[in-house]
Amino acid sequence: MPRLLDLVLVVVVLLAVWPLMLLRALAGRLQKGHVFQREIRVGRFRTLYEQLHFSGDWPGRGLAQLLNILRGDLAFAGPRPLRPEECATLPAEAQARFSVRPGLISAHRVRQATGIDHDQEYISDVEFAYSESLKGNVSLLLRGAAISVLKGRSRPAPPELDFFGISIVNTTMDEAIDWILQGATTSPAQLMAFVNPDCLNIAYRHDEYRSILQHASRVLPDGIGIHIGCRILGTSLRANINGTDLFPRLCAALNEQPELSLFLLGAQAGVADQVAQNMQARFPQLRIAGTQHGYFDPEDDLRVIERINSSGANILLVAFGAPRQELWLAKYREQLRPGVVMGVGGLFDFYSGRIPRAPQWLRELGLEWTWRLLQEPKRMWRRYVIGNPLFLFRVLRQARQSAAGRFE
Ligand code: UDP
Repeated sequence: MPRLLDLVLVVVVLLAVWPLMLLRALAGRLQKGHVFQREIRVGRFRTLYEQLHFSGDWPGRGLAQLLNILRGDLAFAGPRPLRPEECATLPAEAQARFSVRPGLISAHRVRQATGIDHDQEYISDVEFAYSESLKGNVSLLLRGAAISVLKGRSRPAPPELDFFGISIVNTTMDEAIDWILQGATTSPAQLMAFVNPDCLNIAYRHDEYRSILQHASRVLPDGIGIHIGCRILGTSLRANINGTDLFPRLCAALNEQPELSLFLLGAQAGVADQVAQNMQARFPQLRIAGTQHGYFDPEDDLRVIERINSSGANILLVAFGAPRQELWLAKYREQLRPGVVMGVGGLFDFYSGRIPRAPQWLRELGLEWTWRLLQEPKRMWRRYVIGNPLFLFRVLRQARQSAAGRFE
């Protein structure tokens, strides 16, 4: 069925663009003496095929790939076509990716555009191969078309990003997890924070919160808003490192290092316990040293700190929402024994199953916030409907000011 879709689609597209292709073929022939540039790629069932590009450096080289689709070497949606030498480094589990045709648009490429390509490429390829369907392919094509808006020319990715005087680390998910594991046994506690546009809007007017972020051991970029903000500032975000994507990967890493443990503090009664149960079922070696709900009296702060410290936990996750969690952590940083402490917002609500997280396709489009808005419109409308444009306005102003500074 997906092949039939490809055939119909490629015939329609070819009917529309054949004059352009003819011109492009002629241009290549005039410039290079031959129409096509051919490169060997690994196709379905690991058969080799020649991937076509029009020769010469004029735009439209890739149009020739439509002929590959017509021939059946390539699909519109599918894993990225690999060069033979790339196959040598693939693990055995990746084999299933070759049960489908390679494609022009892969799920991994879509995730790259929104900065959520945290796993190795073959994992999303295998997922695609196992679940390929007509509906899935159409959805991937639409996502591919939508994210092409987010791409554009490549920009430098500096190690630090600056938003309104707050420095954010521009890093990868793997490095962020290594940093936590390395810091887990250090003292005093290192404060890590995730910031999204809402947090930066709050920090703009909340001096204490801003100062905490400015003095935190590390601040990580959370969400599509930061990605767009980076584009406005002429930089690029390496990865969207939000707590919700980081948490299961951190648990997987701790599963391999059972000498390190977690403490989960926050959310309504029973929620953190449920998260602990769910994660321990997924990762049997994971050690959760303790949990505590987040609706206790401030008079009990010291008692809660005592529980955290005596649990021996190395990493503390606090889910009170921003900025409350960061204010609490900064206040007690000196007394807390875990090596790394971090605020994680509504994360426990997702991993307990209390609130469903946005479906993957919405996250790939950078639209997770619309899901949250629909779930809790009364609480979230101000954050997103007013907050998002306000954030973009402030970033634009920062971009203008730094451009003016450069030309002075
Ligand atoms: N919360 C808490 N104690 C409080 C207020 C809030 O534990 O006094 C919890 C709340 O139950 C929720 C989380 O803090 O689990 C805040 O979630 P929200 O979605 O607002 O956080 P965000 O990710 O937006 O910062």
